Amino acid sequence: MEILKTISSVKQHLRTLKTQNRAVGLVPTMGALHQGHLELIRQSKKQTDITFVSIFVNPIQFNNPEDLQKYPRTLSSDLEILANEGVDMVFTPSESEMYPHAVMMEFDFGSMEQVLEGRFRPGHFNGVAIVVSKLFHILQPDISFFGQKDIQQVAVIQRMVNDLSYPIKIEVVPTMREADGLAMSSRNQRLSKEGRALASILYKVLSKCKDELLRGEQWLHIKNKVIQEMLEPLDIKSEYLELVELSSFSPVNNLTPEKPYAVCIAAHIEEVRLIDNIIIRTDHI
Ligand code: AMP
Repeated sequence: MEILKTISSVKQHLRTLKTQNRAVGLVPTMGALHQGHLELIRQSKKQTDITFVSIFVNPIQFNNPEDLQKYPRTLSSDLEILANEGVDMVFTPSESEMYPHAVMMEFDFGSMEQVLEGRFRPGHFNGVAIVVSKLFHILQPDISFFGQKDIQQVAVIQRMVNDLSYPIKIEVVPTMREADGLAMSSRNQRLSKEGRALASILYKVLSKCKDELLRGEQWLHIKNKVIQEMLEPLDIKSEYLELVELSSFSPVNNLTPEKPYAVCIAAHIEEVRLIDNIIIRTDHI
């Protein structure tokens, strides 16, 4: 496995690969790897000839300095995991390699970034789009793999790829979960044993919302009920709990047949910000 830290070394490496006409898959990550990341890597290995993984904790997508400072960094064990998975190349640039100058340009995703994550983390999607865009230019993948766990991020990146005609296919991989339903996340490491046990309520809330929506219950009624009956008794405050229509990411109050939706949640448990979502298909209602 090649471990490359500079853009120029990647360029050199790519020169040889491109002459061999092999399909390159990219899995962008911020490290602290878990099974969710490994699922993306396994999909890349299935669908492409060569798999690149990037590990870079991107400072410009954090709107909260404490969250950035506390983000887990486990590079040496990450590299061991990646070597065992048979990854071909890992790109682990320094901050100064990625951002030798402060970035001036900004992405604006309009209404798509005024809700949910965009609303509660101002500037987050601009930071994501800048780093993913740079990684796409540097690593030139044919397919890039992203997790459904960050569903609004997928929507924003797909939009960027469409709007700017990147010659890259975006593949979305379903959320990997712990046995009790909690979505795997690097942030879960920061929870105490009690916090970790509490955190499984988020997926239970999402599943309950989905069941009730498909039974024809009104969204606002469901939302108030799960907040009062499932979250408040555990003293958990959700930052948001919304039903969104997937193509526009607009919050809605009702399902319409034949459209995909998602219920999305963000909540703090022991100061750790967790997000999750569940997709709702209405083809059959
Ligand atoms: P991160 O390192 O948190 O930036 O995540 C890197 C990629 O892994 C993103 O595309 C995430 O959506 C994806 N990912 C994170 N957690 C999971 C999970 N539990 N299941 C599937 N993909 C995930």
